[in-house]
Amino acid sequence: SSEKIDLLVYGPNKPIIDKGFSDQFVLHPAETRADLERISPAVKEKIRGTAVTYSTARCDGGVMGMFPKLEIAASFGVGYDHVDANYAREHNIVVTNTPDVLTEEVADIAMGLLIATLREFVKADRYLRSGLWTTQQYPLSVGSLRDRKVGFVGMGRIGQAIARRLDASLVPVVYHTRNPVAGLSYKHYPDLIEMAKAVDTLMVIVPGGPSTAKIINADVLKALGPRGVIINVARGSVVDEEAMIAALKSGTILAAGLDVFANEPAVPDELKAMQNVVLLPHIGSASVVTRNAMDQLVVDNLKAWFAGKPPLTPIAETPVKGR
Ligand code: NDP
Repeated sequence: SSEKIDLLVYGPNKPIIDKGFSDQFVLHPAETRADLERISPAVKEKIRGTAVTYSTARCDGGVMGMFPKLEIAASFGVGYDHVDANYAREHNIVVTNTPDVLTEEVADIAMGLLIATLREFVKADRYLRSGLWTTQQYPLSVGSLRDRKVGFVGMGRIGQAIARRLDASLVPVVYHTRNPVAGLSYKHYPDLIEMAKAVDTLMVIVPGGPSTAKIINADVLKALGPRGVIINVARGSVVDEEAMIAALKSGTILAAGLDVFANEPAVPDELKAMQNVVLLPHIGSASVVTRNAMDQLVVDNLKAWFAGKPPLTPIAETPVKGR
């Protein structure tokens, strides 16, 4: 039909999303929440779908509630702790995310961060640049992947892709999730503390949100012990950051590799001053090729929906039946 479909594009500007739609669609960009407030009531009435282009665009009930005809919120990223999935379900709004297209990329980063943390790549790079190598060999690293056992906190799409990389590296893997994964041969621990006692390395790759908030706490870090290394590529909210800083300072654990933080983009000065941490600015999926694929999946979910088809990747909380 020639009926126009009005879409809100909420969050940072993304060329693939801006250019991704035919002229059957009318796009209304709003980078910030203040921009949303400025959209006229007449336009707010017409909006039927939204692209949420980055996790900084919090899509809570207050935002979705501005658009009475909203049918679908297509969110960028596999994690959607910035979208109120319960509000969406209660108001018949379908939410989609961008799983799978980033799985291998994030797994690469997790594996790289683990090795960089154990073998001190960043510290060694600083050593070379400072000229110290010309007078003295870099000291042997205490950490090594060779004598480790890795306990996964989360074993979904990305967790399993990281585990495959550790299999190839001949490193033993176990995991903690709420439910064991069918068909997986790694040992499952229903109890996180029990797993932490049995391993020396934690690979954190669960979703954020209330069910995982600060599950990596002081007790878990103590159970992990003085050889302990924690790699967090999940969400900063999953780790009690203060407890982790204290544990890194006191030698309760050895080191950490972190891609995510409790209050991004703010990172505690105490962490920045430490030599036994590797800190990344939330770059897990942040390559051109993978971010393009994620942007495209946001577009494709909206196009499928407005073509009367099921969305490609709805989240579990808003399943779509019989469309
Ligand atoms: P999946 O949904 O495939 O897997 C999630 C895993 O976490 C499952 O094994 C699930 O098992 C487990 N889990 C969920 N809740 C809990 C809980 N309360 N306690 C213990 N385990 C739990 O997600 P993906 O693997 O695709 O992605 C995981 C997360 O990684 C994303 O949600 C996102 O937050 C983060 N991420 C970070 C990126 C970065 O840039 N650093 C990039 C991409 C993703 P069960 O339900 O049985 O408990």
